[in-house]
Amino acid sequence: MTRSVFRYVSWTMAPHLSPGEPEMLHELECSSCLASSGTEADFEAARAWAFSHTGGHPSHRTYREVVVRLWRMAPVRG
Ligand SMILES: [Zn+2]
Repeated sequence: MTRSVFRYVSWTMAPHLSPGEPEMLHELECSSCLASSGTEADFEAARAWAFSHTGGHPSHRTYREVVVRLWRMAPVRG
């Protein structure tokens, strides 16, 4: 018979922020043709791409936003 000892740990979760790294990344994807702005730290860069894309393809008017934000789990001390 094998015995195991389990230690119960409470966890907390918070945004994972690194100096010099963006808090989140933004991407806009065209709903019509799935073209993408690529991931951008600055939402305005993704938005500018969408304006340009609709300018070149006037029937492509809806976009899906994908936001990437890193999270980190840490044990609760105490
Ligand atoms: Zn498109």
